Parts: sequence; structure tokens; C-alpha cells
Amino acid sequence: MSLDGTYDDGNIFARILRGEIPAARVFEDEHVLAFMDPFPQASGHTLVIPKHSTARNLLDEDPAVLANLILGVQRVARAVRAALNPDGLVITQFNGACAGQTVFHLHAHIIPRWDGVALGRHTGGGMGDPAELKALAEQISAKIS
Ligand code: 5GP
Repeated sequence: MSLDGTYDDGNIFARILRGEIPAARVFEDEHVLAFMDPFPQASGHTLVIPKHSTARNLLDEDPAVLANLILGVQRVARAVRAALNPDGLVITQFNGACAGQTVFHLHAHIIPRWDGVALGRHTGGGMGDPAELKALAEQISAKIS
């Protein structure tokens, strides 16, 4: 899909928001929902999405929603750091299929990094163990402040 297009409310993240499919939820407030990426590029890979949005990407988003999204990303990233003690954190966001985007509801990736540990492939790695994802979600959730 290109940068242009119509929002499809059947996308995976819209379905997670409606509670139609499960996710290892980390944090939720009135603006954002955070949950574990089931195909993690690193242990603790977390996604943050706006709850009230029909933006496919960053370019489409209302500035007020975007402002609340980045505040949510910072809050969750701080919790990831507190829970997992990484050496660094990658925060990424893709716009358009050729840029690597595969789910067309705006979202940000929070990916912890450790010195000497290679980054897994984006969407190309294996599925995480559900019990491990749930445990990580609980660890990160406990550090939200
Ligand atoms: P994107 O490629 O659009 O930046 O990121 C989409 C993310 O959604 C990927 O990292 C991918 O692992 C994740 N993903 C793919 N399928 C599912 C799913 O069924 N449930 C959830 N929670 N995430 C998914």
C-alpha cells in the first residue's frame, strides 16, 4: 500500500482496540494502547497505538492525536527501560509499504537494545512465546508511572 489510501477498520490493530482479538496488553489510557509485538525484534518489543484514530500513518494524523501518541510512547519507553534495563531503545515508525509498514493503523515501535545483541528482522522473525510476552507485558506494566 502506498502512502495514500482509505483507512480499513478491519486492520489488526483496530480489531485489538475493539477487543476482537487478543494482545499482551501493557498500558492503556484515554489516548493510547500499548501491547507486546507478537513477532518481537528484541525481547520487550512493544507497540503503542492511538485509540481514537483513523490515520494510516503519521502524515495522516491529527496533530493533537499525534501529540498524545508521542507522550504515550515516552511513558511506555520509560517503563520498558525501568523493567528491562536495556543499553538503548529504538523508537521507530514506518509510513507506506515500501518503507516497511505492514499494519495500516498508525503505531510506534519501542525496541530495547542490548550491547552485543543483534536486532531481529522487522516482521521477518519468529513469533514470541505467548507466556513470555505476557510476562514481559506484566513486567513493563508494573513500571508505568
Ligand atoms: P509495521 O510493519 O506496520 O511497522 O508493524 C506492524 C507490527 O505488527 C509488526 O511488528 C508485526 O510484528 C505486528 N503484528 C503482525 N501481526 C500481528 C498480530 O496479529 N497481532 C499483533 N498484536 N501484532 C501483529
